[in-house]
Amino acid sequence: MKPLGPIPAGFEALDGELAISGRKASSLVEEAGRTPLFVYSKQMIAERVASLRAAMPARLKINYAIKANSFAPLLEHVAGLVDGLDIASGGELEMVQAASVGGDRVSFAGPGKRDEELEAAIAAGVTLNLESENEAQRALAIAERLGKAPRLAIRVNPDFELKGSGMKMGGGAKPFGVDAERVPALMREIVDAGCEWRGLHIFTGSQALDADALIETQANTLDLAHRMVSEAGMSLPKLNMGGGFGIPYFSGDTPLDIEKMGAALGDKLETLPDTLADAELFIELGRYIVGEAGVYLTRIIDRKESHGETYLVTDGGLHHQLAASGNFGTVVRRNYPLAIASHFGAEPAEVASVVGCLCTPLDRLADKANLPRAEVGDIVAVFCAGAYGASASPSAFLGQGPAEEMLV
Ligand SMILES: *Cc1c(COP(=O)(O)O)cnc(C)c1O
Repeated sequence: MKPLGPIPAGFEALDGELAISGRKASSLVEEAGRTPLFVYSKQMIAERVASLRAAMPARLKINYAIKANSFAPLLEHVAGLVDGLDIASGGELEMVQAASVGGDRVSFAGPGKRDEELEAAIAAGVTLNLESENEAQRALAIAERLGKAPRLAIRVNPDFELKGSGMKMGGGAKPFGVDAERVPALMREIVDAGCEWRGLHIFTGSQALDADALIETQANTLDLAHRMVSEAGMSLPKLNMGGGFGIPYFSGDTPLDIEKMGAALGDKLETLPDTLADAELFIELGRYIVGEAGVYLTRIIDRKESHGETYLVTDGGLHHQLAASGNFGTVVRRNYPLAIASHFGAEPAEVASVVGCLCTPLDRLADKANLPRAEVGDIVAVFCAGAYGASASPSAFLGQGPAEEMLV
Protein backbone atom coordinates (compact mmCIF):
# COMPACT_ATOMS: atom_id res chain seq x y z
CA MET A 1 0.00 0.00 0.00
CA LYS A 2 1.22 3.49 -0.85
CA PRO A 3 -0.28 6.60 0.72
CA LEU A 4 -2.36 9.07 -1.27
CA GLY A 5 -1.75 12.82 -1.10
CA PRO A 6 -3.98 14.95 1.13
CA ILE A 7 -7.38 15.92 -0.32
CA PRO A 8 -7.61 19.74 -0.23
CA ALA A 9 -10.01 21.24 2.32
CA GLY A 10 -13.50 22.14 1.14
CA PHE A 11 -14.59 18.98 -0.68
CA GLU A 12 -17.57 17.23 0.84
CA ALA A 13 -19.80 14.25 0.22
CA LEU A 14 -23.37 14.77 -0.98
CA ASP A 15 -25.52 11.61 -1.01
CA GLY A 16 -22.31 9.58 -0.80
CA GLU A 17 -20.74 11.31 -3.81
CA LEU A 18 -18.04 13.93 -4.14
CA ALA A 19 -19.54 17.42 -4.50
CA ILE A 20 -17.76 20.36 -6.14
CA SER A 21 -19.26 23.83 -5.57
CA GLY A 22 -22.27 22.00 -4.11
CA ARG A 23 -22.82 19.84 -7.20
CA LYS A 24 -22.51 16.08 -7.31
CA ALA A 25 -19.82 14.55 -9.53
CA SER A 26 -22.42 12.50 -11.44
CA SER A 27 -24.48 15.58 -12.25
CA LEU A 28 -21.40 17.49 -13.42
CA VAL A 29 -20.44 14.59 -15.68
CA GLU A 30 -23.99 14.44 -17.01
CA GLU A 31 -23.96 18.15 -17.80
CA ALA A 32 -20.55 17.92 -19.51
CA GLY A 33 -21.82 14.94 -21.52
CA ARG A 34 -18.68 12.87 -21.05
CA THR A 35 -15.60 12.03 -19.05
CA PRO A 36 -12.74 12.82 -18.61
CA LEU A 37 -13.69 16.19 -17.22
CA PHE A 38 -11.88 18.92 -15.33
CA VAL A 39 -14.12 20.81 -12.91
CA TYR A 40 -12.89 24.08 -11.40
CA SER A 41 -14.65 25.74 -8.47
CA LYS A 42 -15.22 29.48 -8.81
CA GLN A 43 -15.89 29.82 -5.13
CA MET A 44 -12.71 28.04 -4.05
CA ILE A 45 -10.61 30.27 -6.32
CA ALA A 46 -12.30 33.41 -4.96
CA GLU A 47 -11.80 32.25 -1.38
CA ARG A 48 -8.15 31.49 -2.06
CA VAL A 49 -7.46 34.96 -3.43
CA ALA A 50 -9.39 36.56 -0.54
CA SER A 51 -7.42 34.64 2.10
CA LEU A 52 -4.17 35.52 0.38
CA ARG A 53 -5.05 39.21 0.36
CA ALA A 54 -6.08 39.06 4.00
CA ALA A 55 -2.73 37.49 4.98
CA MET A 56 -0.45 39.69 2.88
CA PRO A 57 0.39 43.38 3.41
CA ALA A 58 -2.20 45.61 1.69
CA ARG A 59 0.51 47.11 -0.48
CA LEU A 60 1.35 43.79 -2.12
CA LYS A 61 -0.34 43.16 -5.47
CA ILE A 62 -1.08 39.73 -6.87
CA ASN A 63 -0.51 38.54 -10.43
CA TYR A 64 -1.76 35.28 -11.87
CA ALA A 65 0.63 33.26 -14.07
CA ILE A 66 -1.82 31.98 -16.66
CA LYS A 67 0.27 29.01 -17.75
CA ALA A 68 -1.05 27.18 -14.67
CA ASN A 69 -4.54 27.17 -16.20
CA SER A 70 -5.74 29.24 -19.12
CA PHE A 71 -9.24 27.76 -19.60
CA ALA A 72 -11.11 30.82 -20.90
CA PRO A 73 -13.96 31.00 -18.32
CA LEU A 74 -11.48 30.42 -15.47
CA LEU A 75 -9.13 33.05 -16.88
CA GLU A 76 -11.93 35.62 -16.94
CA HIS A 77 -12.92 34.72 -13.40
CA VAL A 78 -9.37 34.97 -12.06
CA ALA A 79 -8.69 38.19 -14.01
CA GLY A 80 -11.51 39.78 -12.02
CA LEU A 81 -9.91 38.78 -8.72
CA VAL A 82 -6.21 39.58 -9.18
CA ASP A 83 -4.26 42.72 -10.04
CA GLY A 84 -2.45 41.51 -13.14
CA LEU A 85 -1.68 38.57 -15.38
CA ASP A 86 1.65 37.05 -16.37
CA ILE A 87 1.99 35.46 -19.76
CA ALA A 88 4.81 33.53 -21.40
CA SER A 89 3.93 33.40 -25.12
CA GLY A 90 2.08 35.08 -27.95
CA GLY A 91 -0.57 32.38 -27.64
CA GLU A 92 -1.15 33.37 -24.02
CA LEU A 93 -1.29 37.03 -25.12
CA GLU A 94 -4.20 36.12 -27.40
CA MET A 95 -5.90 34.39 -24.47
CA VAL A 96 -5.68 37.43 -22.19
CA GLN A 97 -6.87 39.65 -25.02
CA ALA A 98 -9.84 37.34 -25.58
CA ALA A 99 -10.60 37.76 -21.87
CA SER A 100 -10.60 41.56 -22.45
CA VAL A 101 -7.70 42.17 -20.07
CA GLY A 102 -5.95 45.47 -20.87
CA GLY A 103 -2.25 45.33 -21.84
CA ASP A 104 -1.38 47.59 -18.90
CA ARG A 105 -2.27 44.70 -16.54
CA VAL A 106 -0.17 42.12 -18.37
CA SER A 107 3.52 41.26 -18.28
CA PHE A 108 5.28 38.89 -20.62
CA ALA A 109 8.27 36.81 -19.44
CA GLY A 110 9.90 33.80 -21.05
CA PRO A 111 13.05 33.07 -23.04
CA GLY A 112 12.93 32.91 -26.82
CA LYS A 113 10.26 35.50 -27.55
CA ARG A 114 9.89 35.70 -31.32
CA ASP A 115 9.81 39.06 -33.14
CA GLU A 116 6.08 38.66 -33.90
CA GLU A 117 5.41 38.03 -30.22
CA LEU A 118 7.42 41.09 -29.17
CA GLU A 119 5.57 43.18 -31.74
CA ALA A 120 2.12 42.03 -30.65
CA ALA A 121 2.98 42.63 -26.99
CA ILE A 122 4.43 46.11 -27.59
CA ALA A 123 1.42 47.06 -29.73
CA ALA A 124 -0.89 45.90 -26.92
CA GLY A 125 0.98 47.91 -24.25
CA VAL A 126 2.09 44.76 -22.44
CA THR A 127 5.20 44.98 -20.22
CA LEU A 128 8.03 42.85 -21.56
CA ASN A 129 10.18 41.19 -18.92
CA LEU A 130 13.40 41.14 -20.92
CA GLU A 131 15.31 37.90 -20.73
CA SER A 132 18.56 39.10 -22.37
CA GLU A 133 20.41 42.10 -23.80
CA ASN A 134 19.73 40.76 -27.27
CA GLU A 135 15.99 40.65 -26.59
CA ALA A 136 16.21 44.25 -25.34
CA GLN A 137 17.74 45.36 -28.64
CA ARG A 138 15.12 43.51 -30.68
CA ALA A 139 12.30 44.98 -28.59
CA LEU A 140 13.66 48.52 -28.93
CA ALA A 141 14.06 48.14 -32.71
CA ILE A 142 10.52 46.78 -33.12
CA ALA A 143 9.11 49.55 -30.92
CA GLU A 144 10.89 52.18 -32.99
CA ARG A 145 9.39 50.74 -36.16
CA LEU A 146 5.94 50.84 -34.51
CA GLY A 147 6.55 54.40 -33.27
CA LYS A 148 5.74 53.35 -29.71
CA ALA A 149 7.63 53.59 -26.42
CA PRO A 150 7.81 49.98 -25.24
CA ARG A 151 7.05 49.11 -21.63
CA LEU A 152 10.17 47.30 -20.51
CA ALA A 153 11.16 45.51 -17.35
CA ILE A 154 14.20 43.32 -16.83
CA ARG A 155 14.03 39.79 -15.61
CA VAL A 156 16.95 39.19 -13.28
CA ASN A 157 18.80 35.93 -12.89
CA PRO A 158 19.39 36.31 -9.16
CA ASP A 159 22.53 35.17 -7.39
CA PHE A 160 20.53 33.11 -4.88
CA GLU A 161 17.88 30.42 -5.09
CA LEU A 162 14.64 29.45 -3.38
CA LYS A 163 15.53 26.67 -0.96
CA GLY A 164 13.37 23.56 -1.04
CA SER A 165 11.51 24.59 -4.17
CA GLY A 166 10.24 21.96 -6.56
CA MET A 167 11.66 23.74 -9.60
CA LYS A 168 14.63 26.07 -9.20
CA MET A 169 14.78 29.05 -11.53
CA GLY A 170 17.64 31.12 -10.08
CA GLY A 171 21.21 30.81 -8.80
CA GLY A 172 24.09 30.11 -11.19
CA ALA A 173 23.90 29.76 -14.96
CA LYS A 174 20.31 29.86 -16.26
CA PRO A 175 18.50 30.46 -19.55
CA PHE A 176 16.15 32.82 -17.66
CA GLY A 177 16.79 36.50 -17.09
CA VAL A 178 19.93 38.61 -17.15
CA ASP A 179 22.69 37.87 -14.62
CA ALA A 180 22.26 40.28 -11.72
CA GLU A 181 25.66 41.96 -12.14
CA ARG A 182 24.82 42.99 -15.73
CA VAL A 183 21.38 44.38 -14.90
CA PRO A 184 22.32 47.94 -13.83
CA ALA A 185 24.04 48.61 -17.18
CA LEU A 186 21.07 47.25 -19.13
CA MET A 187 18.68 49.35 -17.04
CA ARG A 188 20.52 52.54 -18.00
CA GLU A 189 20.72 51.48 -21.63
CA ILE A 190 17.01 50.83 -22.15
CA VAL A 191 15.97 53.95 -20.24
CA ASP A 192 18.38 56.05 -22.35
CA ALA A 193 16.83 54.48 -25.44
CA GLY A 194 13.47 55.96 -24.41
CA CYS A 195 11.50 53.01 -23.10
CA GLU A 196 8.78 53.29 -20.50
CA TRP A 197 10.74 51.81 -17.59
CA ARG A 198 8.65 49.22 -15.73
CA GLY A 199 11.11 47.80 -13.25
CA LEU A 200 12.45 44.39 -12.30
CA HIS A 201 11.24 40.81 -12.25
CA ILE A 202 12.98 38.31 -9.96
CA PHE A 203 11.57 34.78 -9.97
CA THR A 204 13.45 32.12 -8.05
CA GLY A 205 11.38 28.95 -8.11
CA SER A 206 8.12 27.09 -7.70
CA GLN A 207 6.25 24.79 -5.37
CA ALA A 208 7.79 25.72 -2.01
CA LEU A 209 5.86 24.76 1.13
CA ASP A 210 8.40 26.10 3.61
CA ALA A 211 7.37 29.60 4.74
CA ASP A 212 10.83 30.33 6.16
CA ALA A 213 12.52 29.58 2.84
CA LEU A 214 10.08 31.87 1.01
CA ILE A 215 10.51 34.61 3.63
CA GLU A 216 14.27 34.46 3.20
CA THR A 217 13.93 34.56 -0.59
CA GLN A 218 11.59 37.55 -0.51
CA ALA A 219 14.03 39.41 1.74
CA ASN A 220 16.92 38.52 -0.59
CA THR A 221 14.84 39.65 -3.56
CA LEU A 222 14.14 43.07 -2.04
CA ASP A 223 17.81 43.46 -1.08
CA LEU A 224 19.01 42.51 -4.55
CA ALA A 225 16.55 44.93 -6.18
CA HIS A 226 17.83 47.68 -3.92
CA ARG A 227 21.47 46.95 -4.80
CA MET A 228 20.83 46.95 -8.55
CA VAL A 229 18.73 50.11 -8.53
CA SER A 230 21.26 51.95 -6.34
CA GLU A 231 24.10 50.95 -8.63
CA ALA A 232 22.20 52.15 -11.70
CA GLY A 233 21.22 55.36 -9.90
CA MET A 234 17.61 54.89 -11.01
CA SER A 235 14.18 54.67 -9.50
CA LEU A 236 12.08 51.51 -9.42
CA PRO A 237 8.44 51.85 -10.53
CA LYS A 238 7.64 48.18 -10.05
CA LEU A 239 9.14 45.04 -8.58
CA ASN A 240 7.74 41.62 -9.42
CA MET A 241 9.10 39.56 -6.53
CA GLY A 242 8.24 36.19 -8.06
CA GLY A 243 6.13 33.62 -6.27
CA GLY A 244 6.89 30.02 -5.55
CA PHE A 245 3.97 29.43 -3.17
CA GLY A 246 3.32 25.69 -3.24
CA ILE A 247 0.35 23.45 -2.48
CA PRO A 248 0.40 20.04 -0.78
CA TYR A 249 0.35 17.25 -3.36
CA PHE A 250 1.82 14.30 -1.49
CA SER A 251 1.39 12.45 1.77
CA GLY A 252 3.27 14.34 4.48
CA ASP A 253 3.09 17.72 2.66
CA THR A 254 1.62 20.48 4.81
CA PRO A 255 0.04 23.72 3.58
CA LEU A 256 2.15 26.85 3.35
CA ASP A 257 1.81 29.16 6.36
CA ILE A 258 0.79 32.35 4.54
CA GLU A 259 -0.03 34.22 7.77
CA LYS A 260 3.59 33.80 8.84
CA MET A 261 4.79 34.93 5.41
CA GLY A 262 2.49 37.93 5.37
CA ALA A 263 3.66 39.04 8.82
CA ALA A 264 7.34 38.72 7.86
CA LEU A 265 6.84 40.61 4.61
CA GLY A 266 4.89 43.30 6.47
CA ASP A 267 7.85 43.79 8.82
CA LYS A 268 10.28 43.94 5.92
CA LEU A 269 8.17 46.55 4.11
CA GLU A 270 8.26 48.81 7.20
CA THR A 271 11.98 49.33 6.75
CA LEU A 272 12.40 49.48 2.97
CA PRO A 273 15.21 51.67 1.63
CA ASP A 274 14.25 54.83 -0.32
CA THR A 275 15.03 53.11 -3.63
CA LEU A 276 12.08 50.78 -3.12
CA ALA A 277 9.79 53.12 -1.20
CA ASP A 278 7.58 54.00 -4.17
CA ALA A 279 7.78 50.73 -6.09
CA GLU A 280 4.59 48.82 -6.78
CA LEU A 281 5.25 45.37 -5.33
CA PHE A 282 3.85 42.22 -6.93
CA ILE A 283 3.96 38.50 -6.38
CA GLU A 284 3.06 36.15 -9.22
CA LEU A 285 1.33 32.90 -8.50
CA GLY A 286 -0.11 30.10 -10.57
CA ARG A 287 -0.81 26.85 -8.76
CA TYR A 288 -1.42 28.49 -5.39
CA ILE A 289 -4.43 30.34 -6.81
CA VAL A 290 -6.05 27.61 -8.90
CA GLY A 291 -4.39 24.27 -8.16
CA GLU A 292 -6.53 23.05 -5.30
CA ALA A 293 -9.76 24.36 -6.86
CA GLY A 294 -9.66 21.82 -9.68
CA VAL A 295 -10.71 18.17 -9.82
CA TYR A 296 -10.23 15.73 -12.70
CA LEU A 297 -13.08 13.25 -13.07
CA THR A 298 -12.54 10.07 -15.04
CA ARG A 299 -14.70 6.95 -15.36
CA ILE A 300 -13.66 3.38 -14.62
CA ILE A 301 -13.84 1.38 -17.85
CA ASP A 302 -12.35 -1.88 -16.64
CA ARG A 303 -11.54 -3.63 -13.41
CA LYS A 304 -8.96 -6.37 -13.67
CA GLU A 305 -6.55 -8.52 -11.71
CA SER A 306 -2.96 -9.33 -12.58
CA HIS A 307 -0.75 -11.53 -10.40
CA GLY A 308 -2.87 -10.70 -7.39
CA GLU A 309 -3.01 -6.95 -7.95
CA THR A 310 -6.17 -5.01 -8.80
CA TYR A 311 -6.21 -2.43 -11.57
CA LEU A 312 -8.93 0.14 -12.08
CA VAL A 313 -8.58 1.24 -15.70
CA THR A 314 -10.04 4.66 -16.44
CA ASP A 315 -10.91 6.63 -19.56
CA GLY A 316 -8.44 9.37 -18.51
CA GLY A 317 -4.72 9.38 -17.90
CA LEU A 318 -1.40 11.10 -18.26
CA HIS A 319 -2.48 12.84 -21.47
CA HIS A 320 -4.47 15.16 -19.13
CA GLN A 321 -2.62 14.48 -15.89
CA LEU A 322 1.06 14.39 -16.70
CA ALA A 323 1.97 15.72 -13.25
CA ALA A 324 -0.26 13.31 -11.31
CA SER A 325 1.22 10.42 -13.29
CA GLY A 326 4.62 11.48 -11.95
CA ASN A 327 6.07 12.53 -15.29
CA PHE A 328 6.24 16.34 -14.97
CA GLY A 329 9.32 17.40 -13.05
CA THR A 330 9.24 14.74 -10.32
CA VAL A 331 12.11 12.39 -9.56
CA VAL A 332 10.30 9.78 -7.48
CA ARG A 333 6.69 8.99 -8.36
CA ARG A 334 4.29 9.52 -5.44
CA ASN A 335 0.52 9.44 -5.36
CA TYR A 336 -1.49 12.63 -5.78
CA PRO A 337 -4.68 12.96 -3.74
CA LEU A 338 -7.30 10.76 -5.40
CA ALA A 339 -10.66 9.30 -4.40
CA ILE A 340 -13.52 7.25 -5.76
CA ALA A 341 -15.91 10.16 -6.37
CA SER A 342 -18.91 7.80 -6.58
CA HIS A 343 -18.25 6.62 -3.00
CA PHE A 344 -16.71 9.73 -1.49
CA GLY A 345 -15.90 9.39 2.19
CA ALA A 346 -16.52 5.60 2.21
CA GLU A 347 -14.04 3.49 4.17
CA PRO A 348 -11.19 1.93 2.17
CA ALA A 349 -11.84 -1.73 1.40
CA GLU A 350 -9.04 -2.81 -0.94
CA VAL A 351 -5.67 -1.89 -2.39
CA ALA A 352 -5.90 -1.00 -6.08
CA SER A 353 -3.88 0.86 -8.68
CA VAL A 354 -5.70 3.39 -10.82
CA VAL A 355 -4.32 3.60 -14.33
CA GLY A 356 -5.16 5.52 -17.48
CA CYS A 357 -6.15 4.25 -20.89
CA LEU A 358 -2.80 4.84 -22.56
CA CYS A 359 -0.69 1.91 -23.62
CA THR A 360 2.30 2.81 -21.47
CA PRO A 361 3.36 1.81 -17.95
CA LEU A 362 3.91 5.54 -17.25
CA ASP A 363 0.14 6.06 -17.27
CA ARG A 364 -0.64 5.62 -13.58
CA LEU A 365 -2.92 7.90 -11.56
CA ALA A 366 -2.54 6.06 -8.24
CA ASP A 367 -0.16 3.27 -7.31
CA LYS A 368 -1.37 0.61 -4.82
CA ALA A 369 -3.79 2.94 -3.08
CA ASN A 370 -6.15 2.03 -0.26
CA LEU A 371 -9.59 2.73 -1.75
CA PRO A 372 -13.26 1.89 -1.29
CA ARG A 373 -14.40 -0.92 -3.59
CA ALA A 374 -15.03 0.53 -7.05
CA GLU A 375 -16.70 -1.01 -10.09
CA VAL A 376 -16.85 -0.34 -13.81
CA GLY A 377 -18.86 2.86 -14.29
CA ASP A 378 -17.75 4.50 -11.06
CA ILE A 379 -16.04 7.88 -11.24
CA VAL A 380 -12.54 8.56 -9.94
CA ALA A 381 -11.49 12.05 -8.79
CA VAL A 382 -7.90 13.28 -9.00
CA PHE A 383 -7.46 16.39 -6.82
CA CYS A 384 -5.00 19.29 -7.16
CA ALA A 385 -5.94 19.27 -10.84
CA GLY A 386 -6.56 22.99 -11.23
CA ALA A 387 -2.99 23.84 -12.24
CA TYR A 388 -0.70 22.21 -14.82
CA GLY A 389 -3.35 19.63 -15.68
CA ALA A 390 -5.05 20.44 -18.96
CA SER A 391 -2.55 23.22 -19.74
CA ALA A 392 0.56 21.08 -19.26
CA SER A 393 -0.33 17.60 -20.50
CA PRO A 394 0.14 16.02 -23.95
CA SER A 395 -3.53 15.67 -24.85
CA ALA A 396 -2.78 14.72 -28.46
CA PHE A 397 -0.81 11.64 -27.37
CA LEU A 398 -2.28 8.44 -28.79
CA GLY A 399 -5.01 10.44 -30.48
CA GLN A 400 -6.89 10.87 -27.22
CA GLY A 401 -7.67 14.59 -27.45
CA PRO A 402 -8.44 17.11 -24.73
CA ALA A 403 -10.70 16.59 -21.71
CA GLU A 404 -13.87 18.58 -21.13
CA GLU A 405 -13.47 21.55 -18.78
CA MET A 406 -16.08 23.30 -16.64
CA LEU A 407 -16.04 26.21 -14.22
CA VAL A 408 -18.82 25.91 -11.64
C1 LIG B 1 5.55 29.23 -13.92
C2 LIG B 1 5.82 30.57 -13.41
C3 LIG B 1 5.04 31.08 -12.36
C4 LIG B 1 3.96 30.29 -11.68
O1 LIG B 1 4.48 29.23 -10.96
P1 LIG B 1 3.54 28.45 -9.92
O2 LIG B 1 4.41 27.43 -9.34
O3 LIG B 1 2.39 27.90 -10.67
O4 LIG B 1 3.07 29.47 -8.92
C5 LIG B 1 5.28 32.35 -11.96
N1 LIG B 1 6.25 33.11 -12.54
C6 LIG B 1 7.02 32.64 -13.54
C7 LIG B 1 8.06 33.51 -14.14
C8 LIG B 1 6.85 31.36 -14.00
O5 LIG B 1 7.63 30.89 -14.97
